[in-house]
Amino acid sequence: MRIATVIDISLVDVPKIPVTVIFTGGCNMDCGYCQNAEIIPLDSGTEMAIPDIVESVRGNLSDGYCITGGEPTIHKDLPLLLKALRDDGAGHINLNTQGSVPDVLEKCLPYLDSVWFDMKTIPERYAEITRVKSDPWSRVLRSIKLLIESDVGFWPRTTYVGQLMNADEIQRIANLLHELGFQGEYLIQNYKKSTGTRESLVTNFEEPNQSELDPLLDSMPSGITLKLEWR
Ligand code: SF4
Repeated sequence: MRIATVIDISLVDVPKIPVTVIFTGGCNMDCGYCQNAEIIPLDSGTEMAIPDIVESVRGNLSDGYCITGGEPTIHKDLPLLLKALRDDGAGHINLNTQGSVPDVLEKCLPYLDSVWFDMKTIPERYAEITRVKSDPWSRVLRSIKLLIESDVGFWPRTTYVGQLMNADEIQRIANLLHELGFQGEYLIQNYKKSTGTRESLVTNFEEPNQSELDPLLDSMPSGITLKLEWR
């Protein structure tokens, strides 16, 4: 598996749990607003054997792991890494995914406690927003269903990008999650320009105002709470 970098301890990636963050290299999407653009290429990071990865993160003063990327599920040996971390005594194991590789995600479920699920957009805009030729929506939908039916914590969230998205789309995503049986918190985070984005691709995007989405706080379907986290 290709590993881009490791953060020994993070207090912000999993609520109330200090975790070691493992960034895998490579992604099968190409979102224009990606804040980790340098690890999108499939040859980014360094190829590492599973025992070496476990060895390199052992002994950190964290209570678990957050596996992120890139897109971790493009690596077929991801379930083996999760199992190895679990066998090594890991506490909480969280995965960040956009859900486009449900076959791998399904094999990961026995080893996971929670998943931050990156809901990119409404179904009709998936290929456009993620800038891929083959529409990933049917695979993303399968992943959502797998998670909702599992015992793993399903934590949907969307990065809200000014000039690219609108409030009505967030409402439609919430309605869709409700129809699929989700109950819980749906997190919206604001897009922020950062050193990790590609300047040439973000010129038309804006950092959005939270006030655009405030009216949605009272219009969520039953069982879903909208959380706006402006950083
Ligand atoms: S799915 Fe995530 S890592 Fe991949 S390009 Fe989009 S924002 Fe970047």
